[in-house]
Order: sequence, then structure tokens, then C-alpha cells
Amino acid sequence: QSQELSQAQIDYHAALQALVEDGTRMVCTGRMHTDRICRFESLCYSTEAEEFIYFHSNSSVMLPNLGSRRFQPALLDLSSVEDHNTQYFNFVELPAAALKFMPKPVFVPDVALIANRFNPDNLMHVFHDDLLPIYYTMQQFSDLDLEARLFFMEGWSEGVHFDLYKLLSNKQPLLREQLKTLGRLLCFTKSYVGLSKITTWYQYGFVQPQGPKANILVSGNEIRQFTKFMMYKLNISLEESSSEEYIVVFSRTINRLILNEAELILALAQEFQMKTITVSLEEHSFSDIVRLISNASMLVSMHGAQLVMSLFLPRGATVVELFPYAINPEHYTPYKTLATLPGMDLQYIAWQNTDREDTVTYPDRPWDQGGIAHLDKAEQERIIKSTEVPRHLCCRNPEWLFRAYQDTKVNIPSLIHVIRQTVKSKPGPKKQKWPGSLYPGKVRDAKCQASVQGTSEAKLAVSWQIPWNLKYLKVREVKYEVWIQEQGENTYMPYILSHQNHTFSENIKPFTIYLVWIRCIFNKNLLGPFADVLLCST
Ligand code: UDP
Repeated sequence: QSQELSQAQIDYHAALQALVEDGTRMVCTGRMHTDRICRFESLCYSTEAEEFIYFHSNSSVMLPNLGSRRFQPALLDLSSVEDHNTQYFNFVELPAAALKFMPKPVFVPDVALIANRFNPDNLMHVFHDDLLPIYYTMQQFSDLDLEARLFFMEGWSEGVHFDLYKLLSNKQPLLREQLKTLGRLLCFTKSYVGLSKITTWYQYGFVQPQGPKANILVSGNEIRQFTKFMMYKLNISLEESSSEEYIVVFSRTINRLILNEAELILALAQEFQMKTITVSLEEHSFSDIVRLISNASMLVSMHGAQLVMSLFLPRGATVVELFPYAINPEHYTPYKTLATLPGMDLQYIAWQNTDREDTVTYPDRPWDQGGIAHLDKAEQERIIKSTEVPRHLCCRNPEWLFRAYQDTKVNIPSLIHVIRQTVKSKPGPKKQKWPGSLYPGKVRDAKCQASVQGTSEAKLAVSWQIPWNLKYLKVREVKYEVWIQEQGENTYMPYILSHQNHTFSENIKPFTIYLVWIRCIFNKNLLGPFADVLLCST
């Protein structure tokens, strides 16, 4: 990977002249700072002021042109974490004429993606907040290809997982600190600023207790396209029909330990008649862990960031997440949400230690490792007596940290019982089924015919044709939903039908206008769109 910015690709005088004459050009997508990504030509950055600079000139463009709303609270989020006040992006404005009095600009020839990593030392954050969003931001803009260069502006050093970030492009990513060594005034020829949030599934609890995002827009398919890319870059080939089935226990070695790990491994091996192996971030290379997980039948681990690796599990595999005492699994669901995304095709099982005897606490550790010695005595006692951590906000709740960093002796019969409620026979990967789930189109050529019998009775015969895409599909069950609504009323009569025509006589009045809504349903839960409403007069 090339470290240096190659100035050779650039005609310096032409570039400088273009900057002075044309200024900065910005066009963004998104209506709010939380969904905005901006494309710039000639965005500059002062490494001394640590500010981005927008130069006004004859041809400069700024869309959206927000005026001072640009500061309310910012132009955009620089990380994929929504509306976090440490992650805002903005620029300061100058007339291009000011360049005469400024340091000589150094031009960045590569197409740049400028963003913040949110927490590069935590593997869950690395994948969820950074790698997936960067990957799919690059998919969104065609000039962000493998020759693009990533610029991380959050100010952290490389961090333990930097090798993963390097897989996303052929050029070495640059950190904020390193920009100083390049020059005093950097000008990005072409750059994109901000990250797509379209793949994120979890909110960490900054404004309301943590939980799945309200509107998840990613499915297992996109997650698996990303993992396929990562595995290709890591030189890991998926072993087809690999011989032996096995279980992986992903252990932590510093804190939140499984105290009877040997016993657990033995029990799993015996119960499922499968080889059972342990891995940890401390003892295995990242590639080895991916290689092992990508062929595993089951992944068992304490709650924690390492569980994000279930994104590499094969379809059909089982994820077993172990929760320490007093931690309600329903309140901490980043890995459950991942495993149960539509199309991830993983089985998810949570087990919680409910026995106080089986937990080991560390009240005397520093606060950030769950210690509570710094709290007043009454509060310490309340925490120790409590049987469940109440829902809380991120990130420094001492009761949560105290419980999260307990070690656990896993009650083996209880765990096996919980797994057996879901995994009846052997766990294991299954052959990929394609396509996952396709939705019906609109029904076609809907018609209605009314007939009146006397002054109080009427009938409505409705018929329609199958959705256009059905003739190319094998669908287990095709049904139709029909709503009959009297014009001007808020309520309607719903029907589920198996055929393409039906005569309605119940509650149909003569000399009345009915609105008829029809949609097709595949396999009970794949609801298609309603066709244009039919107006039927009896
Ligand atoms: N970690 C680890 N082994 C340990 C403790 C932590 O590999 O014994 C890793 C963990 O997977 C995560 C990072 O260190 O990537 C930070 O762990 P922390 O406990 O702070 O976060 P959590 O796992 O609770 O998200």
C-alpha cells in the first residue's frame, strides 16, 4: 500500500490556479445533518487550525446552502453514529483571495473519503460503525473505488484493528495526526465527507436506552456481501462441504470470563457430538478466527464485542450468547439483532446466569472495569443487592459496568436445556436457499360488477389477474387480501381469499359506492402492494 501522496500525478500550477479561480464546490445528498453525505471539489484543511476550509470564488457551489442553519447543530455527522455531538463536521469559509496569504497548498490527488471512526478499539464498533458503513458508502459513489483513500479525522491512533480498515482500499488510510506531516494546508481534489448509516442496526443508548434502531434498512444479504469481500481480502476461501462439523467457543481472557470453560467445552462436545474449540482475540490472529467461524455450526460466547464476529458464521449456524448475573438479555441486543436480521439465517439463543452463587464480582477494580468502591456505601449496597440492572443510558452507569464485568461459572445443565429448546437435532450450516423472499407485484386487471336484488340486497363480483412476476416464481402459497370500504367511511371489511374472483354479498348495500383494495400475499407474510383502488357502484 502506498504511504505517500503522489504529487507526480498533479500539475501543481494548474491545480492551484483552479483552486483560486473556481474555489470549493460542494453538492450533498440528504435532507438533515444525520443523513447527509457531501461531495466536494477543492475542499481544504488547515493542519494548524485543524479546520476544514471552504473557499468562495466565481464558480464555487454550496448545496445545500443552509446559511447559519449549517451550525444547528452541524452540516453533517462524520461518523455513522447518529447525531453525536463529538462527531459533527463543518468548515470555515474564506474568500479564495485569502490563499495569497496562506501556506502553499499541498494537493491530495486521490479521491478521498473523509470520516470519523467511532471507537476503533472495540470490535463491535469497528464493524458496525466503521467497516460496514465505509464499505457501503464506497458502494454508493462510483469514484470511491479501491484506489480511493480513507482519511480518519476522529484523532485516534491506528488502534488494534487497523489492519481491517486497510482492507477497504488499496491505499494506506491516513489519520488526523499524520496530515500535519504532509503540509500546513491540504487541498482534497475530490472528496466525500460523511458515512452512510444505511447498514447500522443498533443504537448505543445516548438519548434513550440502547436497542435495535427504529428503522433497520439492512438485510443479511448485504451483510454477507460485505463479509465475502472481507474474506476475499483476507485470502480466506470458503471451504465447500468441509468434512467435520464443530462448535467454536469465543472466550475473553481479560474480563467477563467463563470460569468453567473446560467443563463447558466438554459438555458441548458431548451433547452435540461435535469437536469444540476455543478462540480468543488475544490468542488467535483475526484471519484464523474468521476462518474458523466461517465454517462453524455454533458460536458460543459471553456477551461482548467479539460476538460481532457472528457476521462471518455460515447460514443455518447457531449463536449462543451468555449473559452474566443481573443482566437482562432483552436489554442488550446488538448481537441478537444482527443474528436475526432477515436473511442472516442464524439461530439466536440467549442464556443468562440467574444464580448469585455462580457469579464473581470485582467491586474494587477501577470504575471503568466495573469497580464500585468509589460510590457511597448505600449505593454500593443497593447495587450488590439488586437482581437486575435497570435500563440505563450509555456509557458510564456503574451498576451496568459492575455487572457487565463479572465472571461467570456457567450452569451447564441450564445452558444445554436452553440450547436444546431451539436446536433439536444437530446444529449446523445449511445449503443456501435462493432467492430468500421475493414480494408479489400488484394484481392486474381488477374489475367489479354489481347486481342489485330488491331494495335492500346487493352483490359485488370482483375479479383480478395474478401479479405479473408470479408466472416466473415458485411460490408455496398464494393468497389475496381484499378490503371493501364504503365510500366516506373509515372502516373496511377485510377478506383473505385463495382465488382470483369472489362475489361479496354480506353487508353490501344497494345504491352505494364501494372502494375495493386488493393485494397479493406470498407464503403468509410477504405482503405485496395494493393495486389502484377499484370504485364499484351497486
Ligand atoms: N476484549 C477481549 N478480551 C477480553 C476483554 C475485551 O478480546 O477479555 C475485547 C472486546 O472484544 C472488545 C474490546 O476488547 O473488542 C473492548 O472490550 P470491552 O469489554 O470494553 O467492550 P465490550 O466487549 O463489552 O463491548
